[in-house]
Amino acid sequence: MRFALKNNILCPQKEDSLPISHIPNIPQPPPNPNFRFNPELQLLLTGKQLLTDDIPSKEFQVHYEQGYVTYRKGIDYLGKQPICARCGNKDPQWFARFPCTRCGEICLYCRHCIMMGRISECTPLIGWNGPPPEIKLPGKIMEWQGKLSSGQQAASDKVVEAIEQNHELLVWAVCGAGKTEVLFHGIETALASRKRVCIATPRTDVVLELTPRIQAAFPSIPVASLYGGSKDRHLYARLTIATTHQLLRFYHAFDTLILDEVDAFPYTVEESLQHAAVLARKPVSAMIYLTATPNQKWQKECRQEKRAYTTIPARFHRHPLPVPQFVWCGNWQKNLHNNKLPANVLQWIKNRIESNKQSLIFFPHIPLMEKALPILRQFAPKIEAVHAEDPERKEKVQKMRAKEIPLLLTTTILERGVTFPNIDVAVVGAEDDIFSESALVQIAGRAGRSAAFPTGVVTFFHYGKTDEMLKAKQQIVFMNREGVKKGLVD
Ligand SMILES: [Zn+2]
Ligand SMILES: [Zn+2]
Repeated sequence: MRFALKNNILCPQKEDSLPISHIPNIPQPPPNPNFRFNPELQLLLTGKQLLTDDIPSKEFQVHYEQGYVTYRKGIDYLGKQPICARCGNKDPQWFARFPCTRCGEICLYCRHCIMMGRISECTPLIGWNGPPPEIKLPGKIMEWQGKLSSGQQAASDKVVEAIEQNHELLVWAVCGAGKTEVLFHGIETALASRKRVCIATPRTDVVLELTPRIQAAFPSIPVASLYGGSKDRHLYARLTIATTHQLLRFYHAFDTLILDEVDAFPYTVEESLQHAAVLARKPVSAMIYLTATPNQKWQKECRQEKRAYTTIPARFHRHPLPVPQFVWCGNWQKNLHNNKLPANVLQWIKNRIESNKQSLIFFPHIPLMEKALPILRQFAPKIEAVHAEDPERKEKVQKMRAKEIPLLLTTTILERGVTFPNIDVAVVGAEDDIFSESALVQIAGRAGRSAAFPTGVVTFFHYGKTDEMLKAKQQIVFMNREGVKKGLVD
């Protein structure tokens, strides 16, 4: 939009005006107490940074003039360098120009966050400057009545404390420790003090899985579930569960932001998502990070006590995590090109088939996995292989759960988020770059999860050990030691 300054107020007009990014300072009128604001606009804009296209009514200009709406520049400048105010992009390669019908100029826009609607030099980011919506508290906030393990309880207490005091806290919980339950008392505390809470996670799958669990624990609290294409997109809710991408629409919204699986793609690789998380929090707020596998930098900060953290080093069933065994298997890729598998890999698999023990076998790449499939089907025709683009992915995982498949070959797509009660796990080609420390810890974490079958064999077949393999093993051994120290492992 093009604006002119009149009596220190921005007015949209075509002539004698500038795209919003070229106006040096955006004046903010104070809220006029005699103005009757539109409560629907209040619900839509509180804690948000929306585009004009996201707002059905055009009343936002009147609300701005009366002091109830804020305008921010979509593209800001640091000297001559453009910065996208929404995603934080500063990289010149991620900006482009187009002939813009809105401002009639060759307008600069951010390509980086374009999937959330275009931000250009004439785009105002629209937010709320009036009072927040009124909150009515139900008599009982939380219905969840489950019991926490002593490891979970200790972590839960720390989460409550961090939320009350608006601190940052990392919860480092081993795979299968039950980290979601650790949040419940913290969320209850926040809601009871009329705070707004968001759980954000990089993956849509996790949003879909968490939403019914959280809603069941807090049945009288409206929950917004946000991911690409979800219907709750503009719902105002006290409790929000969102993909990290969806955080790009929020601005100073949350008193408590919980980031789940911070180590998972794409959060770690995309600075913009970290930027979004920072903007979505209120300036005074609590931040809880949840992960089973913090990166090396964070692990070091924990050891040096530079980062507030708590561990849940053991699972509910008080057995240690299975420690991976490293087994050299020679040039397995060459073997596969000759339609063979290394003898020790084949023996490992045959043993499982013969003893009816289900297993997951991880491969670094799809073509090699697909070469292995017909070889293994000679021993058990029901063996399946699965990868990210597989349209039958869900069905195959379901069949594995129902024990209709003896063995499932997979890429890293199943490294996290899936639980099969009684399995052994192998990686073929653990030296591949795709198997980072955190991926390997997650993979090993698939074994021994249930109380009925708390152990499992984890074997990394390799053609040369890597640092990532060694670090993954170290991390698992460290957590087992912590578990013993804290009296959480028998
Ligand atoms: Zn424009
Ligand atoms: Zn952007």
